[in-house]
Amino acid sequence: MNNLKRREILSRLRDDNPHPTTELNYNSPFELLIAVILSAQATDVGVNKATARLYPVANSPEAILALGVDGLKDYIKTIGLFNAKAENVIKTCRILVEQHGSQVPQDRAALEALPGVGRKTANVVLNTAFGWLKDNEGRYFLAVDTHIQRVANRTGYAKGKTVEQTEQAIIKNTPNKKEFMFNLHHWFILHGRYVCTARKPKCGACIIEDLCEFKEKTEY
Ligand code: SF4
Repeated sequence: MNNLKRREILSRLRDDNPHPTTELNYNSPFELLIAVILSAQATDVGVNKATARLYPVANSPEAILALGVDGLKDYIKTIGLFNAKAENVIKTCRILVEQHGSQVPQDRAALEALPGVGRKTANVVLNTAFGWLKDNEGRYFLAVDTHIQRVANRTGYAKGKTVEQTEQAIIKNTPNKKEFMFNLHHWFILHGRYVCTARKPKCGACIIEDLCEFKEKTEY
């Protein structure tokens, strides 16, 4: 794919949704961090249902620590992998209290040191909660999940066998980074979630169908 096409793809996604954001509900960086930890291999809808009950009761590291692992499980037991996630959230809250003054650190390494937080979660928090375009080292970054992995590779926008490769390929190939990189994460996620779906992409209703290089387009 050439950069003219890439630019047109991004322009159309932007025209369609100028201010995209996460579908996880949150009111603070801490609430977003916990929601993203809970969202691994779970739907945003499912996480929102759980946090709608949890956050009115406990939306700070101290308050969640006070619930304890078993108390927290009562709120998140509808979410997949809730046992491991409860352990990770409690450990994360303890580290936030003991090492970061109960604040979510604005630092990639410190975020990735939290249990249950990998590069993708750190990227989401830095981008969405703190509005970062580049990381501590001044490099562009992008949280790549399964939707972004699929959309980038299927369309031909950027190729990568792993999410790390795809992240680097998207960054390398995205034109006008200052203009587009900040929102690219959410544009691609939402496109993958609702249009370029895993089993049956809705190519007939896709606003970038004429630009996409996928060879097995559907009529729907
Ligand atoms: S045309 Fe089809 S495969 Fe290409 S981005 Fe749109 S939905 Fe996905």
